[in-house]
Amino acid sequence: MNHPDNCIFCKIVAGQIPSKKVYEDEELFVFHDIHPWAPVHLLMIPKAHIASMAHVGDEHAALLGRMMVLAPKLALAQGCNPYPEGGFRIMTNTGAEGGQEVHHLHLHVIGGARPWLKG
Ligand code: AMP
Ligand code: ZN
Repeated sequence: MNHPDNCIFCKIVAGQIPSKKVYEDEELFVFHDIHPWAPVHLLMIPKAHIASMAHVGDEHAALLGRMMVLAPKLALAQGCNPYPEGGFRIMTNTGAEGGQEVHHLHLHVIGGARPWLKG
């Protein structure tokens, strides 16, 4: 998909906007949310611009699978406590009514000791 000139997360992938990077490979980029809700708050994005979960197709199944497999590993590595006492939340806001503010698909990976700011 095209990289819109005005997409903040495409700019983060390109290094045009700084971020606190946690992980990167050919397809994925993971960084700390600038306004964390909790002790751990990561954003996991595909490098390719996909606007939202409403835009995914069969061709994205493997990519989304990789994201879901990677998320628990990074959650633990970044300080989430182990299941079941610990754990984490994976969240993907989609569209205006879903609460999506940045229109480049991202998984929030949120965890750590409570209380959290939200959620
Ligand atoms: P959403 O409402 O799901 O679209 O969430 C967008 C998230 O992106 C919010 O939690 C913001 O705090 C986060 N965010 C926005 N700009 C940046 C940035 N430059 N670096 C890191 N996180 C950001
Ligand atoms: Zn983008």
